[in-house]
Amino acid sequence: MKTGVDYLKDKLAWDEKAAKIVYTGRLDEYFGFSLGRLDWRSLRFEVETLDQEDFQHNAVVNYTEREPAFTRITEHKHFDPSLKCKKTVITKEYPDSFEEGKIPYYTINDDRNTALSGAYKVMANKQPNVIFLGRLAEYRYYDMDDSILRAMEVAESLL
Ligand SMILES: Cc1cc2nc3c(=O)[nH]c(=O)nc-3n(C[C@H](O)[C@H](O)[C@H](O)COP(=O)(O)OP(=O)(O)OC[C@H]3O[C@@H](n4cnc5c(N)ncnc54)[C@H](O)[C@@H]3O)c2cc1C
Repeated sequence: MKTGVDYLKDKLAWDEKAAKIVYTGRLDEYFGFSLGRLDWRSLRFEVETLDQEDFQHNAVVNYTEREPAFTRITEHKHFDPSLKCKKTVITKEYPDSFEEGKIPYYTINDDRNTALSGAYKVMANKQPNVIFLGRLAEYRYYDMDDSILRAMEVAESLL
């Protein structure tokens, strides 16, 4: 097994190594963006160490109104209640536009992107030995449990 490898950079060599490829990268990138680029939403994270033992008494608090600008604060120590520390680390999560170099977090389900991803999916279905799997390759939002379920279903169909 190898990690930290960009499959698309050496696609032909990797394709020769396996009868089936499970591709989990970006759908449009697989096809060299030949029909155009799909849009994404990105996120920006601000991490702060606070000189207090507790900030919000909870691991994650969502903020759904226009103000403040952040949409979520995560206070990491609450993921493990056994952690005792006089300070606390929080991460504020801000919505951000996507451009190359940033992480594509969320799909944009407007008319343009629905049509474009649909056209790429037609092309994907014609790749005989490639299974397009996951949020990037299927251009859809998955909750974690749904993505694991889908991966298990695909594994079962292959094994
Ligand atoms: C900000 C954020 C918060 C979330 N919060 C929650 C939550 O609270 N609860 C919940 O249930 N779900 C949450 N989710 C959703 C959850 O993270 C996803 O459902 C899950 O990670 C999707 O798994 P995946 O395998 O489809 O994609 P990913 O986890 O993105 O995996 C794709 C993999 O493909 C690899 N890859 C991409 N391109 C290439 C390439 N060219 N070559 C080789 N490898 C490549 C990547 O390195 C990565 O390992 C959240 C998602 C986001 C973005």
